[in-house]
Amino acid sequence: MIPNVLARPVYLLQTRIRGEHTDRHLEELLRTQWLSRDELAELQWKKVTRLLHHAYENSPYYRKRFQEHGVSPEQIQSPGDLSRVPLLTKEELRKNYSEMAVTESTYKYSAAKSSGSTGQSVKFWKDHRASGAGRAAMMRGHSWYGVNIGDREATLWGVPLSRSGRIRSRIRDFLLNRFREKNFQLSDEVLRSFYEKMKRVRPAYLMGYSSLVYEFAQFMQQQELDGAALELRMVKVTAESLFDYQRELIEQVFSTSVANEYGAAEVGIVAFECPERGLHITAEGVYVEELDTSVPDVGAELVITDLDNFYSPIIRYRVGDYGRCSDMVCRCERGLPLLRDVVGRTSDVVHGPDGTVFHSSIFSYILKEITGRDGGIAKYRVYQDQKGRLEFEIVRAPTFTDDTVSFLKALVADEFGSGMETVIRFVDVIEREPSGKLRYFISRVQ
Ligand SMILES: [Zn+2]
Repeated sequence: MIPNVLARPVYLLQTRIRGEHTDRHLEELLRTQWLSRDELAELQWKKVTRLLHHAYENSPYYRKRFQEHGVSPEQIQSPGDLSRVPLLTKEELRKNYSEMAVTESTYKYSAAKSSGSTGQSVKFWKDHRASGAGRAAMMRGHSWYGVNIGDREATLWGVPLSRSGRIRSRIRDFLLNRFREKNFQLSDEVLRSFYEKMKRVRPAYLMGYSSLVYEFAQFMQQQELDGAALELRMVKVTAESLFDYQRELIEQVFSTSVANEYGAAEVGIVAFECPERGLHITAEGVYVEELDTSVPDVGAELVITDLDNFYSPIIRYRVGDYGRCSDMVCRCERGLPLLRDVVGRTSDVVHGPDGTVFHSSIFSYILKEITGRDGGIAKYRVYQDQKGRLEFEIVRAPTFTDDTVSFLKALVADEFGSGMETVIRFVDVIEREPSGKLRYFISRVQ
């Protein structure tokens, strides 16, 4: 582990060598966060139009796409015109990423991949400047909790499966002054040693998938371990939806704030939650649009443009998440606009028996009901292979009885209609994805 005093210079050196210049981006972002909403909108729109011109002039893919749609960058004069620019789907990104890059450029770049949590992973090119801007957006979020560049991080997160990937991640962990628990089947032993290590090396914050951090908090509560003694400045959760009951327990156990970070590999850090619980959009780095959706209660499908990836522009990307922008002004008085919430992935849609669609976060409410009644279900996962049918995988708690099943079935009928067929399978563990993510709902309905 890197000594704390060296962590910051080591970090700054490697970011400069890579051409990311995270510190310069951060300095700028710490200034622009206090601009008014109008000033930020103006700055953002300038970046949008600059990117559109750049893509049209230098990327063979975008020039062709724009021409096919009979649109040129000059015609995009205000946000209302942007809908004329074609949307980019994951499938199109997957097929065309090599042509999307600009020709004859001097940009530093690397190949990157999305996590593939909703199916296939997507490969794309990432401009190092864009990586730096994304990291700076993340670090600005950290700074809201008093966490600075080089501060030590404890991570409940996955590691790449390939050997070369593992070595790279070990080096990066060292450079970024972080240590991580790589084991996803979190046994009591693993969790206890992680806690002991945290006590020993004193990280400034803990970060991880919401479900892993929640499991850790549950364990600490059961074992009566002192979370406040760790003196964490924040617990950052990301990559999965954060449910209210998870937030409550995590904040209670660690006596600190939970910060929700929302991002995607393809477009960087989209939003970061401030201590006043405003989920602030990185207006300087992304442009977020809402696409109307037929699924009630989940908001709109989010469409995102990365404003910094000049090597391989990503414009009007259907990132696969639902959310809603908000006009509210945050109590923290930053001009950065807000996302009301990010509800989850587009693959999180449940199909009812009569064609109605629901959002899968409904299961967390169903399970909450059961917790409030007899707590008979320790863990669960739901699969949907066909419309009108759900399969529950359940890990039984000691208080489980046949009554738990009847109650569950009644709740399902209440929420989805009595035509919903419910199949229940009992299992010993709920396996995580190879990436370490825990998915509560998996749909194979096309
Ligand atoms: Zn705020």
